[in-house]
Amino acid sequence: MAETAHSIGANTFAFFTRNPRGGKAKDIDPCDIETFHEACKRYGIDTVVAHGSYTVNPCSAKPQVREFAFQALEQDLERMEYTPHQLFNMHPGSHVGQGVDKGIELIAEVLNTVLKPGQTTTLLLETMAGKGSEVGSSFEELARIIERLDCADQVGVCLDTCHVWDAGYDIVNHLDEVLDEFDRIIGLSRLRALHINDSLNDCGSHKDRHARIGEGSLGLEALRRVVHHPALHGLPCILETPNDLDGYAAEIALLRSDA
Ligand code: FE
Ligand code: FE
Ligand code: ZN
Repeated sequence: MAETAHSIGANTFAFFTRNPRGGKAKDIDPCDIETFHEACKRYGIDTVVAHGSYTVNPCSAKPQVREFAFQALEQDLERMEYTPHQLFNMHPGSHVGQGVDKGIELIAEVLNTVLKPGQTTTLLLETMAGKGSEVGSSFEELARIIERLDCADQVGVCLDTCHVWDAGYDIVNHLDEVLDEFDRIIGLSRLRALHINDSLNDCGSHKDRHARIGEGSLGLEALRRVVHHPALHGLPCILETPNDLDGYAAEIALLRSDA
């Protein structure tokens, strides 16, 4: 992973902790871990952003789905400690008709069980587009989850540009205002990672369809303003655009350049 990231000009990357569609995680080989640490050191990769499984839904109405969420998150957080002090990003969940209040309560309940004092990993809640019954499409909802957590110091937020745009935050015309709002409601110190994606749809569409950088409704200039914003300096930027490796290399070069 580190080799591949370096080969396309990246100094960070994301990886799935298990099959994104769910299931059991592969056992960890201690030799792999050592090789990984060496490669990261060689290539100046300080921060990586793991992504939990998409099928993890801590606020499902079905007890067996919540049980899988609990087990997968607990294991993923244990496994993250092989690479200490890194970031683990997850989708807060979908309340599937139970209502946002119930969703927030159930998410906090699961997180309060899997987050343990002494863990070095920061768990990130991703800003969501608000597709279906997704929880976390407003800064308020994310703040309400975080304020219920016992280990809140181990929790942050990952801002996905496609998702916040689709959720109704106009980061094309009002980036500073949106970041001010984030700061007021969640606190910018909680913002630990960015997902940089263009969007196939309009602001407020609640669709969540990613586009390549510059090929969607956000556009290259707006995304470049996010990546180069002084308040976001140093945050890992992860591309989740529909691309092959050459495409990612080109997007990284495009976003890194100032104009
Ligand atoms: Fe995600
Ligand atoms: Fe994302
Ligand atoms: Zn998405």
